Amino acid sequence: MDILHCDLDAFYASVEQRDNPDLRGKPVIIGALPGSRGVVATCSYEARKYGVHSAMPVSTAFKLCPEGIFIKPNIPKYIAVSEKVFSILEEYTPLIEKISVDEAFLNVEGCHTLFGSSLEIALEIKKRVKEEIGLTISIGIADNKFLAKLASSLSKPDGLLMFTPDMVQKLLPTLPVQKIWGIGPNTVKSLNNIGIYTIEDLLKTEKNILNRILGSNTDFILQLAEGKDTRPVEPYQGAKSVSQEITLPIDINNMEEINKILLRLSIKVGERLRGEKLQAKTITLKLRFSDFTTLNRSQTLDEPVDKNLVIFEIAHSLLKKINIKGKKIRLIGIKTSNLVGNIAEQPNLFDFKADNLDQTVDELKARFPSAKIMPASLLKYDNIK
Ligand SMILES: [Mg+2]
Repeated sequence: MDILHCDLDAFYASVEQRDNPDLRGKPVIIGALPGSRGVVATCSYEARKYGVHSAMPVSTAFKLCPEGIFIKPNIPKYIAVSEKVFSILEEYTPLIEKISVDEAFLNVEGCHTLFGSSLEIALEIKKRVKEEIGLTISIGIADNKFLAKLASSLSKPDGLLMFTPDMVQKLLPTLPVQKIWGIGPNTVKSLNNIGIYTIEDLLKTEKNILNRILGSNTDFILQLAEGKDTRPVEPYQGAKSVSQEITLPIDINNMEEINKILLRLSIKVGERLRGEKLQAKTITLKLRFSDFTTLNRSQTLDEPVDKNLVIFEIAHSLLKKINIKGKKIRLIGIKTSNLVGNIAEQPNLFDFKADNLDQTVDELKARFPSAKIMPASLLKYDNIK
């Protein structure tokens, strides 16, 4: 039993309740504000009693819980709190797989001599997160990731549960199919339609019938249904920077052309950041002149960004501070670094028009890879790779 799944309870709402005693014991709903088209990011357990849950349209949440206290997320604050929690987790093992800002798997296999049994490690983490950060964290302990995550979800809030082999035999088959990680609401509906409600129902169904609903995931889901999961805890080895640069076909010094290329680079960098669910705190503009001298100018921001136009505006403001009179440019690049995971994963969370525009364009490009979707002014540069 060496795999721990650690998951902070109602993270954003708990941070707000921690910092403002007036909010404690009340239905706190973090996300978009009523009257907008956004969604709930998370809500306190008091709000969950009204049926409010994350990813629900905020208009529905308001109908269910009009007395709820609706608050916009304070992303920089949550990132700072998250970093503190992760620095506690990192004291116990380097084998940490970060799932999101408030959730991680730990493999504590090699840590028992130093820190005791898995149960002792879990108890100590819970105690320290409570005392040092002021939040509750639920922890599931099991032989694999699936069962550890299941254990933490069953024990919430402020839970601790060890999923024993005995529970794999007796408890697991009785649970509803939606408890299997990866089975989404639509699949649940399809399974329910043919009379499959519990994990036991699923295991008793013929594979060719399941195939029609689960497709290529059938074998994997059947393994999970038996409590088996061979996926290792994989520490994140992600990119340290995301950048894009162009060596121009001819050296240029026309500001308008340079700006158009900058915009194009910003769009590419923005797409890659969003595609990897990353945001950058530092934007660097790179220019190489016809005499091969190279110049880098950076700006570091208080809040991480991933929007095309924000990246462009910063790169453009860096460009304006460089005197390029009499010089010709042969290479232009934009690098984004100081990367953090994008914790606002709900696309409509902030209900900004620009957010939705970038996301819509990303989706269109994914569906129609050969289509040319970009600001019209860029089309003539489309041969630049
Ligand atoms: Mg959580």
